[in-house]
Formats: sequence, C-alpha cells, structure tokens
Amino acid sequence: MSRFDRFAAKKCRNHVIEHVLNRFHGIIGNSQPITVRELCMSSENTGSRSNDTDSLQQHSIDLLAELIAFDTTSVNSNLQLIEFVRDYLQQRGVSSRLTYDETGKKANLWATIGPDSAGGVVLSGHTDVVPVEGQAWSSDPFTLVTRENKLYGRGTADMKGFVACALAHTDYFREQSLQVPVHFAFSYDEEVGCIGVGGLIKDVMDNLPLPRAVIVGEPTSMKIIGGNKGGRSFKTVVTGIDGHSSLPQLGANAILAANRIINKLVDVQERLIAAAPPDNGFSPPYTSLDLGLINGGTASNIIPARCEFSWGFRGLPDEDMDAIENEIRDFIDSEVLPGLQAISTATSIVTHLRSDVPPLKPDEHSAAEQLVRHLSRLNSSSRVSYGTEAGLFQQAGIAGVIFGPGDIEQAHLPDEFISIGQMHECCDFMATLGTWAAEPSVVT
Ligand SMILES: [Zn+2]
Repeated sequence: MSRFDRFAAKKCRNHVIEHVLNRFHGIIGNSQPITVRELCMSSENTGSRSNDTDSLQQHSIDLLAELIAFDTTSVNSNLQLIEFVRDYLQQRGVSSRLTYDETGKKANLWATIGPDSAGGVVLSGHTDVVPVEGQAWSSDPFTLVTRENKLYGRGTADMKGFVACALAHTDYFREQSLQVPVHFAFSYDEEVGCIGVGGLIKDVMDNLPLPRAVIVGEPTSMKIIGGNKGGRSFKTVVTGIDGHSSLPQLGANAILAANRIINKLVDVQERLIAAAPPDNGFSPPYTSLDLGLINGGTASNIIPARCEFSWGFRGLPDEDMDAIENEIRDFIDSEVLPGLQAISTATSIVTHLRSDVPPLKPDEHSAAEQLVRHLSRLNSSSRVSYGTEAGLFQQAGIAGVIFGPGDIEQAHLPDEFISIGQMHECCDFMATLGTWAAEPSVVT
C-alpha cells in the first residue's frame, strides 16, 4: 500500500477528519461542508501515485546530498544549485521563473505545480548557507555524511533539508491533479539579511496570481512558529583625527566617540527591557540589542582615527523600529559628532543600514497557520527571535508560518546535521499537503 493509500485509508477510518476539514472551510472560503465520503472518493480517484513512502524518503535524502554539494555560502554564486533545481523540475515538466540580483550571479527560483490560479500554497526555502571558516568539522561540510541516523553537512538543517523534501515530491504533487497550486520559492542571500527574496516576491506580485499562504521551512523541528521578531542592522563608521597619544588634545579619538554611541545603545536596550510586555511568547520577551563586531585603532600609542562597529536591534512585532533608529541617529548628530567637528571638519560619523527584516506578526487565524495546524494535527504555535523571510511575504499580503525539519540549535554550527527522522516527518507532511491540495471539495 502506498503512503497515499495508507493516508486515505486512515482518514476513512477516522471520522474526526470531517470536523477538522470543516473547521478549515472558512479559511478557504467554501460554503459547502466536506464529508469523509467525498474525501475517500477523491482518494480513490487519484490513487495512481507511483512512488511509495520509502522511495520518496530516500529520494529526498539523495537530493539533499546533491544540494549540500553546492557550496552556496552567501558570498558565492548560487547559480549552479539553481540550475540544478531548474533542470530537475524541467525534466518533470515543471517550468521555473528566475529572478536575478544585479550582478547576475545569484538567483531566486519560482515554480508552480497545479493550476495557474490564485490561492496557492508556497513552500519557501533559502538556498544560501553560512560560512564554515574557522569551524571544526569532523567531515567535509559539503559532502553529506550519515552517522547514527543523522545527516551531516552545511545546510542540512538550515535549510536544504526542507528544500530537498519539497523537491522530492514534485512527481507526487503532479500526480495528485492539484486543485490548489503548490509553489516552490527558493531564494538567495537570506543569511545576510533576507536580501534576495524581495525580487521574487515583487515578480509574483507584479506578474502572477497571488498565493494565499507561505510555509517557510526553517528548522523548527516540525513545530509551528507563528511569529518572529524583525531586525534592523547597521554599520557605523567613526572617522577622527590621528596623533601621538601623548597629545590627545590635538587628535579626535574615534574609539572614544564610538564608545559614547555604544553606551547610548545600552541605555536604549535597558529602557526597552523595562518597557517590554511580559509573557508575549518571545524569548527574550523584549527588543534586543545586537553588537557583534568592532574594529578600531592601529596602536596603543596612536590616537585612533577610525573605529567601526556593527549593531542592530531585533524588534518585537509591534516595536517602532523607526523610532529606535531615529533616536540613535539623532544622538550621534547632536551629542557625539559636534565634539569631533570642533577639532576638525574632516571628522565624520556615517551609519549605513545593512539589513531591514520585517517581523512576522503572529496571527493564529491566518490561512497559513490554520492550514499547517490542520495538516500537521498540531494545535499550538510559538514564536522565535530570529528573522525569516516570512515577514516579507506577510508584508506582501501572503500569510506566513514557519515550519520545517531539523533543529535550529544545529544551524550555523560545525557538524550541522538533520536527523533522518526529521526528513521522514517532512516527507509525510509534503504528502499530506499534496492530498489536501488535490481535494476539490475543499476549494470550490
Ligand atoms: Zn535559515
């Protein structure tokens, strides 16, 4: 018995499904109740699935090995991986749309299985990975290695595992005669501030029928994440005047100026902690400061002429990030820069915006969360403090939820892995999604 048949049979035995499906009705906009009989008839009519569960699971792992082998660290081009995916889909009769960055060396891929209509479900994953430099790996990070039911390699959890599971079900989705389209959205440059996916979303908004929901397959251990913090990051460069450290009155110390700005960031952080609403589901439950990189000076006895540091805030969904940014910029302009300028007009403080990722605002009643709750049988969701592409889709009017295989605790670390069990769970989810998307009575 194929997984599809087992799935259908299980549903036919379980009349609770009527209740679940009808609970979902309102989201899809159907006025007719769904019966188990309709669902079973639909399953019988589409029981021509050629691959069984085991082969689909193995295929997803084989595909993961292929995807891992492309070194798509964000500084590199991702085109070889994208072309591999495009060819894979082309061989199965699915065409792709690519949107490129300005250099032409990176691309997003969008593909649709099913009808050319609005209201589809997007399976979204980023193709880039974080660097392996300076990390102690037990094996080549770009060769998939299996040890004790774990698949090791850079990007296994974050997030080529999800991409592999989705891709592996291309034939399966096609065989289901989907009534609700399933889209693949594979992006570049997520790890450096969700920069790439904007071009893909714009292309969809401008040229294609709008999807209804997006599932962003970041590693959540197949639990539902309904909201994430936004984030805004900056690099500030302080330019002072150098000189001998015995004559500080003749120079403009860039490190001391930077220090005043950093103290201001700490003051703002303390105020935000005090003002944060407790028990909001986020950990930590406040808008938090990032200060991860600083570089300044050339020698201990030279007044430093340059200091630069990278900083930012990860904001609660309701946080006014413009207000925080403006407060810091105003402080620099009114409290720090005049002291440097009094020494020399050649001094400056320049703050560059590096990334601006909107939050995913929690909405338990959104089409995305209700769909994933229905398909996964989970009845709760939680929040995370890291940024994802889901907020960008939500901004574009496409409801989003984060739901994928693997554990975020393995992401970005040496010996990153995904368990084979998580890959199997994700494959089961893909099959359930396909079955649902083929059920005509749910979408008319
Ligand atoms: Zn990720």
